[in-house]
Amino acid sequence: MRARLLVPIVLRAALATSSILLGAGCGRSAPKAASEEPVVHVCTVCGATETFATFNNRKHALCSKCASKERHRLLVHYFEHETPLLRDKLDVLQFSPEKGEAEFLRKQANLKYVTSEYDPGKGDIRLDITAIDQPEASWDVVIVYHILEHIIDDRKAMSELFRILRPGGTMYLQVPLETGRTELYEDATIVGKKERNKAFGQWDHVRRYSAQGLKSRLEEAGFVVEVVDYLAKLDPAVITKHSMSAKFNPPLDEQIWVAKKPVR
Ligand SMILES: [Zn+2]
Repeated sequence: MRARLLVPIVLRAALATSSILLGAGCGRSAPKAASEEPVVHVCTVCGATETFATFNNRKHALCSKCASKERHRLLVHYFEHETPLLRDKLDVLQFSPEKGEAEFLRKQANLKYVTSEYDPGKGDIRLDITAIDQPEASWDVVIVYHILEHIIDDRKAMSELFRILRPGGTMYLQVPLETGRTELYEDATIVGKKERNKAFGQWDHVRRYSAQGLKSRLEEAGFVVEVVDYLAKLDPAVITKHSMSAKFNPPLDEQIWVAKKPVR
């Protein structure tokens, strides 16, 4: 009743007219467009229940409580259902995590969880990913999400990440992968922000990976690589509930990359 009173008279008149035009007068109410249906999402990262906000023109992308976006909620869902991360006693190092994701992992009592940030004072420690100041074989898990596309010497970074992992350890990673791209593209002579934006799609990116290009470099570093199409494994209703599939333009492949350091 209260809401009805708030509707201006002019608008009420317009609605009355449109309901006649839509045939509501014959006893059936006009069908509501699907896009108008209220949607309540559940955040896998912080547990919030709300309608996720639009972010960068992507509808239902952003959780207002923890700022997670589709790929973070997908990764946390994957961690929870497909990995030992919420169960086993593990030493986990994550490079530049999203805030909500870091809080989620920090809460897990079974983990020793440490973050590294490039900006001084932001993370638990500050590491150069191409010369990681950590002993060999000192971590069970490293998480490197959307980092390597910023690193000029990504081969060095990969070999360093391999070095600090314990045998049998796992790196979870992702980089932007444009759907259908077959060639890795990089050019170290492109350094200007405008030029990089044009060449690599973002001012602080230094290459465009292809899936094959990424896989080859990881294998060169010694990793055994598995590409998990986790979205394809999930019930569409679950994907919608947590809004875990991002509609990028141009489209990106959102597989989770699992790179293992062999036991021997
Ligand atoms: Zn959230």
